[in-house]
Amino acid sequence: MNVQSKPLSPEKSDSMNEENQSPVPIAVAHGDGIGPEIMAASLAVLEAAGAKLDIHEVVIGEKAYLSGNSSGLDASVWDILRKTKALYKAPITTPQGGGYKSLNVTIRKSMGLFANVRPCVSYAPVVETKHAGMDVVIVRENEEDLYAGIEHRQTDEVYQCLKVISRPGCEKIVRYAFEYARVNKRKKVSCFTKDNIMKLTDGLFHKVFDEVALDYPEIETDHWIIDIGAAMLADQPEVFDVIVTLNLYGDIVSDITAQISGSVGIGPSSNIGAHGAMFEAIHGSAPTIAGQGIANPSGLLLAGAMMLAHLGQTRVAEKIHNAWLRTIEDGIHTPDLFTEGLSVKKVGTHEFGEAVIARLGQNPEKLDKVTYDKDAKPIEIYTPVPRDSEKKELVGVDVFVQSRMEPDQLAKLLSQAEHSVGVKLEMITNRGVKVWPDPMPETFCTDHWRCRFMAQPDSQFDLASVVALLSRLASSNVEFIKTEHLYTFDGQPGFSLGHGQ
Ligand code: NAD
Repeated sequence: MNVQSKPLSPEKSDSMNEENQSPVPIAVAHGDGIGPEIMAASLAVLEAAGAKLDIHEVVIGEKAYLSGNSSGLDASVWDILRKTKALYKAPITTPQGGGYKSLNVTIRKSMGLFANVRPCVSYAPVVETKHAGMDVVIVRENEEDLYAGIEHRQTDEVYQCLKVISRPGCEKIVRYAFEYARVNKRKKVSCFTKDNIMKLTDGLFHKVFDEVALDYPEIETDHWIIDIGAAMLADQPEVFDVIVTLNLYGDIVSDITAQISGSVGIGPSSNIGAHGAMFEAIHGSAPTIAGQGIANPSGLLLAGAMMLAHLGQTRVAEKIHNAWLRTIEDGIHTPDLFTEGLSVKKVGTHEFGEAVIARLGQNPEKLDKVTYDKDAKPIEIYTPVPRDSEKKELVGVDVFVQSRMEPDQLAKLLSQAEHSVGVKLEMITNRGVKVWPDPMPETFCTDHWRCRFMAQPDSQFDLASVVALLSRLASSNVEFIKTEHLYTFDGQPGFSLGHGQ
């Protein structure tokens, strides 16, 4: 199957005749590193192809960070983003280390762009690739997971990052993946999780996947544990069609997939939400090649085609995409794609853009021409319906403690607090492994202990009991650093066991 023959539908179509459409307001960010070079080349192609865009430029990224704005953008930029229909964004540089939040994550989350769609296609025989038949779309959840960015240093030795997964978040992204597959006539949706280890968080994602799949009986489904799924994707990508996965896994596997298709420089991506959309290349700002005029603008250019399709300008999108295919087919390649004996001419960023412009109106001859379905049904964005509350009961509390004591000593100290509060110390773990009772002498321990107190039968255990327990622990000079309440939901535990428990 040659992948380029599949119609690429707009996420939202505009019934208005494309020819008569007035310019659509979009925001454009030129980015950092190679950003300005690839954006200039891409915009030149969009303009030459007849895209109807009313461009509002925004300054975000390094300049904003270095002028003291830790979020990487000025508050006034939000107004522009709200008023425009889409953000066309070149990559930006996130300064490493202290205090700087990732602007990409901030925009995706603040604007509710929950779906990150990353098509990864190989272009054999005109681009060298190990995987001639690759045509995979990664649908990555964009708002949750470890990217919630909730991190704490809790003790001298231990740092923590919270993985936050919600049922509505899972429902939105999984349903989007199935809708995407249906509208784009894709045959299979695969789910990647690590629910053999993270049974509650990844387990929820998998469970929602199984539930939603029932509404799409014509689409084949399967589930892969992320490690073997990623290995299989790198080795036999033709096994996959659409992959839906959590934020971090999606970030990693889409870079792998783009790279094995030929170059990370050719992967486009859209970020879709109910109130807006953002289009960008999947790669970063590549600071080491910035300013040399050699970066491949293809990822950003193809993201521009995705944006035009989203805005209802499917004819222009199709024209650009086919001219791009013809350009790479003619062997006009930037250095990242250039292969002696296969490529014909090595060009820089600007020259590559000019070559695409020169081919506008032409179609590829060896590769299949793309067809954007002008009448495609828009992909519906699902609004999660709140579910009935389950019966939630407080059955205990995990108290996290910093201490240099041995587990037995610590248990003795903690047990002094338990009696009058109606709880019993049930176990102590260190980095998730049970170390009390019955420790294994081989287990390595840090200064960070999770101490599980369970409510005793017939005791009245409530939030006030937790406060009373903490108060007793404080009087015994126990240095508690946080608590996690242990609930059951309709009798089912909402917490995991300790390893070895
Ligand atoms: P990167 O994607 O910028 O670069 C990885 C490698 O791919 C480098 O060798 C680079 O030269 C090459 N490469 C990337 N794009 C290319 C292109 N268009 N043409 C030719 N070669 C290309 O990843 P990185 O080096 O890890 O990150 C650099 C910066 O980009 C960091 O500050 C990071 O935070 C940022 N970043 C931004 C985005 C975004 O804005 N969406 C995404 C990822 C990383």
